[in-house]
Amino acid sequence: MSSFWGGYGLPLAFGVSDVKEFEGQIIKIRRRIHAYPELSYQEYETAQLVAQKLRTLDIAVKTRIGGTGVVGILKGAKKGNVVALRADMDALPITENVNVPFKSKRPGIMHACGHDTHVSMLLGAAMLLSKHRDKLQGQVKFLFQPAEEAGGSGGAKPMIDDGAMNNPKVDYVFGLHISGAEPSNAFLLRSGPLMAAPDSFRIRIIGKGGHGSTPHEAVDPVFVSAQVVTALQGVRSRMVDQREPMVLSIGSIHSGTKENIIPDEARLQGTIRTFNEKTRAQAKKYVAQVAKSVSSGFKAKAEVEFKPDDYPVTVNDPTVTKRVISILGMIPGTRTIEARPIMGAEDFSRFLQKAPGAFYFLGTHNPRKGCVKPNHSSEFKVDEDVLKYGSLSLANLAYEFGKPGQN
Ligand SMILES: [Zn+2]
Ligand SMILES: [Zn+2]
Repeated sequence: MSSFWGGYGLPLAFGVSDVKEFEGQIIKIRRRIHAYPELSYQEYETAQLVAQKLRTLDIAVKTRIGGTGVVGILKGAKKGNVVALRADMDALPITENVNVPFKSKRPGIMHACGHDTHVSMLLGAAMLLSKHRDKLQGQVKFLFQPAEEAGGSGGAKPMIDDGAMNNPKVDYVFGLHISGAEPSNAFLLRSGPLMAAPDSFRIRIIGKGGHGSTPHEAVDPVFVSAQVVTALQGVRSRMVDQREPMVLSIGSIHSGTKENIIPDEARLQGTIRTFNEKTRAQAKKYVAQVAKSVSSGFKAKAEVEFKPDDYPVTVNDPTVTKRVISILGMIPGTRTIEARPIMGAEDFSRFLQKAPGAFYFLGTHNPRKGCVKPNHSSEFKVDEDVLKYGSLSLANLAYEFGKPGQN
């Protein structure tokens, strides 16, 4: 199938016929992990399965990297670049609502973001690359990361701190995410900023409790919260450059116990998503400023606290991305589409701060197979026929970028 982006001009190292022999295994592994999901930093069984599989492929394995993380290293027959491929392993605190034979056996935990498929697709790539290591140049590092869903305290940072990107030093890094919102068999990516920087914050509004019938003798934090929530949207609409993407959402408000008691305080939690550091710094400053000044106008006090460890914008290297687009564009049975920037966030951004690379998506939306719900839905269902393409894309990226002197 011809691609929107045009071909790479050379045949790819691995084609659909090469991955076909592993497709059954890829799906089997995915189903196994799907049935036994594990939450962030508790991916013990998943990590064990990964390590065992890598060892059977004669790939060197390091375990307990950044918590439950696993690193595999495959040496090619010839010298070349070190290419890292990353899959996250954790599931979400959701009870699965899909009736499949491999439905989650753990109530309240589900692979609703598709990280089970990431693990199996990367193992599929490992099977392909291991089999053809004689023609491989350079080295491939397989990064199985814990706790992507843990936000700012996600597993990318502890893995990097544990040396995952060194010894050997990684020259290029790639990550793949499945997307329930995009059509099956479509790869999506873009050059430059792809996913936002997330900043979580908490606001504590301190008032003065009293009787609901005499608000003038109290300072009502419920009323003040309402003003703050409304005013904060003015940061987006009136204070930050309109040409810069930004989202601000308050996801949680807690205060009070009974209808006629004015409580002492209210607690709010929210998130800001931005695409550049300047807007990000401004947004954080104005959120604190507006929350505090609106509160003090009504005799209350606001304390604003930002999580210190939120991660940066996910930025795909333009030169690398151009080449990735060409390579993906040559995978038969798929098409490659330019993605729009996404306000969601990924701690893969931390790996991209250490080496140039790209993060990309593979669509799995397929109404004919009932795969219609988005990631994080309790009804999220994956079109398993796309998994072979994911493995194929990772293996080909590792092969192509492993070649020395390409960039
Ligand atoms: Zn997710
Ligand atoms: Zn995810």
